[in-house]
Amino acid sequence: METEEQSVSDKVMAAIDLIGRTGAKWMQIRFSEDEEPVVWIAVAGYTERGVDGPMQVGAGLDAESAYMALCGALIDGGQCKHCGHRTAFADGPERGLSLGNVCRTEWDPEKKKYTQSCGGREGKEKAG
Ligand SMILES: [Zn+2]
Repeated sequence: METEEQSVSDKVMAAIDLIGRTGAKWMQIRFSEDEEPVVWIAVAGYTERGVDGPMQVGAGLDAESAYMALCGALIDGGQCKHCGHRTAFADGPERGLSLGNVCRTEWDPEKKKYTQSCGGREGKEKAG
């Protein structure tokens, strides 16, 4: 219980799971403290580490914000594999808003997971 990881929140754990579900081969969290404010950066890569390939980054003023920004960068404007609608990562006040034919990835406090508003994952969740 002495690691710095012990304070990782459920949301961060779920975000890491979600990023993994996008097909990321690796991810990383780092921070830059050269200047104030300290900035956190989350990185996900889609080929083996050390190989040039698709990567995505998200930044924030704490680790959780960086992961949320990365999730937004990965999910916003994509296409849901299940319902075919445009995807949006909705972690903030926009949660629950009607966005038309948009499939929202939202925080589910009961499951402690991010789930798609179309329910697309429901039938396939058992394996996870
Ligand atoms: Zn969907």
